[in-house]
Amino acid sequence: MASNEFEIIQRYFYPSGGVRRPDVILGIGDDAALTRVPSDRELVTATDMLVAGVHFDASWPAQDIGHRALAVNLSDLAAMGAEPAWCMLTLSLPENDDAWLAGFSRGFLDLAACFGVQLIGGDLARGPLVMSVAVFGLIPAGRALTRAGARAGDAIYVTGDLGDAAGALALNEKDARGQAHALTTRLRRPQPRLREGLQLRELASSAIDISDGLLADLEHILEASAVGASIYAACLPLSHALTELYSLEQAQQFALTGGDDYELCFTSPDPDLHRQGRLPFKISRLGMIEAKRGLRCLDRSGETLRFERQGYRHF
Ligand code: ADP
Ligand code: MG
Repeated sequence: MASNEFEIIQRYFYPSGGVRRPDVILGIGDDAALTRVPSDRELVTATDMLVAGVHFDASWPAQDIGHRALAVNLSDLAAMGAEPAWCMLTLSLPENDDAWLAGFSRGFLDLAACFGVQLIGGDLARGPLVMSVAVFGLIPAGRALTRAGARAGDAIYVTGDLGDAAGALALNEKDARGQAHALTTRLRRPQPRLREGLQLRELASSAIDISDGLLADLEHILEASAVGASIYAACLPLSHALTELYSLEQAQQFALTGGDDYELCFTSPDPDLHRQGRLPFKISRLGMIEAKRGLRCLDRSGETLRFERQGYRHF
């Protein structure tokens, strides 16, 4: 067993096979890290904290927890259209558990390697199971995708499928059917849409990642852009797994109000981005940005649908 925090960092967070970027002058091991930002780029930073019992369950496989801790952070960079570069990890652990640390660091560092992200530092303490990750990315100056650029007439799109993570949370504990596994994977191992975000930088007028639920997160775009919108429930992209396990109405409810999917919601003046062959990844067009404020969700006949809770609130 690693006997102290220096050994833990050496063994689990600074493995010899890890990502080594040429723009890192000094990584883990000194009082602070030193990195180089090209003069024509802006530095994009984001941080997200994960608390056991709030954002994940401590009984999950450690590898999934490690993956998710970094994935939800990289998702914020994706929503800005940034290229990810570095990350930092602050970890509070109840005990020095080798198997847990091995799994956690593998989940975290494998995802980092997928996107060429180098872990350049962090902190470690004994305490409740909490992790805080900071991510740093680069973007050509003035090109970031923000929440504030949506204009009346823009189309509203979303990547991938929605509602799977909420469907996973609502599963019966013992449900081991194949479809249940597919949903659980979406909850525990979200895929940050970084490649998608990079391509959307040229096409989208605004973007956000869906962490709190489509309605709640689209509201943020509407507020920041001072516009309104109508979306159509029938256009929501629902996975086969979700519609096999739940009624259409329940699946739509998950897609609209359930969080944790980490897909990107974005707007664009181009109304045809969802046409076959335009983009090398799945997107769906959900509706339109309108000058009239407020968010309307309509059924097939144009009736307004009402939904209970819009997004997770901590306080
Ligand atoms: P200090 O006493 O100056 O805070 P630490 O002992 O906390 O230094 O950290 C020593 C080095 O290890 C620093 O470079 C720090 O960034 C890095 N480090 C600490 N914890 C982690 C971690 N969980 N993951 C990655 N690097 C870490
Ligand atoms: Mg420290």
